[in-house]
Amino acid sequence: ATPTALLVGTGRGAQLGILIKGPQVLESTRRVDTIVLDKTGTVTTGRMTVVATVAIAGLDEVELLRFAGAAESGSEHPIAKSIVTGARDRVGALPDPESFASADGLGVQAVVDGRAVVVGRPRWLIEQWGIAFPPELEEALAASENRGETPVAVAWDGRARGILAVADTVKDTSTEAIVEFRRLGLTPVLLTGDNETVARRVGAVIGIDDVRAGVLPAEKAEVIRALQAEGRVVAMVGDGVNDAVALATADLGIAMGTGTDVAIEASDLTLIRSDLVAAADAIRLSRRTLATIK
Ligand code: ADP
Ligand code: MG
Repeated sequence: ATPTALLVGTGRGAQLGILIKGPQVLESTRRVDTIVLDKTGTVTTGRMTVVATVAIAGLDEVELLRFAGAAESGSEHPIAKSIVTGARDRVGALPDPESFASADGLGVQAVVDGRAVVVGRPRWLIEQWGIAFPPELEEALAASENRGETPVAVAWDGRARGILAVADTVKDTSTEAIVEFRRLGLTPVLLTGDNETVARRVGAVIGIDDVRAGVLPAEKAEVIRALQAEGRVVAMVGDGVNDAVALATADLGIAMGTGTDVAIEASDLTLIRSDLVAAADAIRLSRRTLATIK
C-alpha cells in the first residue's frame, strides 16, 4: 500500500505544479516547522528595473550607464540584467568588456574601454575596493534605500562615478503564501543578500518580522545550520546560484521553477509556477500523503 500512496502523492504533486525528486522527500516535510525564504526572485518577481540614475558632478548619465551596462553584460544576476536593459534603452549598443569577473552576492568587475569598472553593493566597493563616496552620492544612496530600492554603486579607475537604483515588486501570491505557511504551523524567515531597509520593507508587506539581511551567499547555509542547531526543522525556498548551498543544507530544499539549474539540482522539490502558494500546497500534500500511509 505504501508505494501506491506515495505515487498518488507525487502524481497529485505534478498536477499542482510541483516536481518531487523522489518519494523519500515526503518524509522530510513532515517535521518541518520553519520556512526560510530568499527574497529576490522568490518572494519578489526578480524582474528589476532601473528607477534612478545619479552621476557625479561633471559626468553624463549616459556615460555612467554605458560603463555600468557593459560591465554587467556578463552577469546572469537579475540586477545585472536590469542594468543592461536600462543601459541599452538609453545608450544603444554597449561595448564588450575586455575582461569580466563576478563576485557572488556582491557585484561585478570588468575592463571596459581600458577602464577598470566595478559595479555592485555599495559596501563592497567601500570595503573591498577602497572607494570613497562624495556627499552627493552618499545622499543618493540613503534616499534610494529609504524609498525601498536597491542602490548599486558604480566606480572606475578607483573613483565613485554614480549610483543606479533598481527595484522589483513583491509577487501578488507571496502574502497569501505566508498566511498558508502559518496555518501549517511554519514560522517564516526572510533571508537576503540585499540591504536591511529593503528587506524589512518587503517583510512588512508580506507579514514576516524575522528578517535576515545583508547575508552573503556563503553565509546563507550558516543561517540554516544555526536554525537547525536551535532544534528547528528547516525548509528553504530559493532560486539563485547563491541559494544552492543553503537549499542543500536545509531539511527540505524547494526551488523556484524559474530559478537557476544549480538551485533546482540542490533541491528536493521544484515549484513549476514559481508561486510560493505551491510550496504550502506541497507541504500540505506531503503531510496528507503520509497520513494516508499510516
Ligand atoms: P538575494 O539574496 O535577495 O537573492 P543576492 O544575494 O543575489 O540577493 O544579492 C545581494 C546583493 O548583492 C544585491 O542586493 C546587490 O546589492 C548585490 N549584487 C549582487 N550581484 C550583483 C550584480 N551583478 N550587480 C550589482 N549588484 C549585485
Ligand atoms: Mg534570489
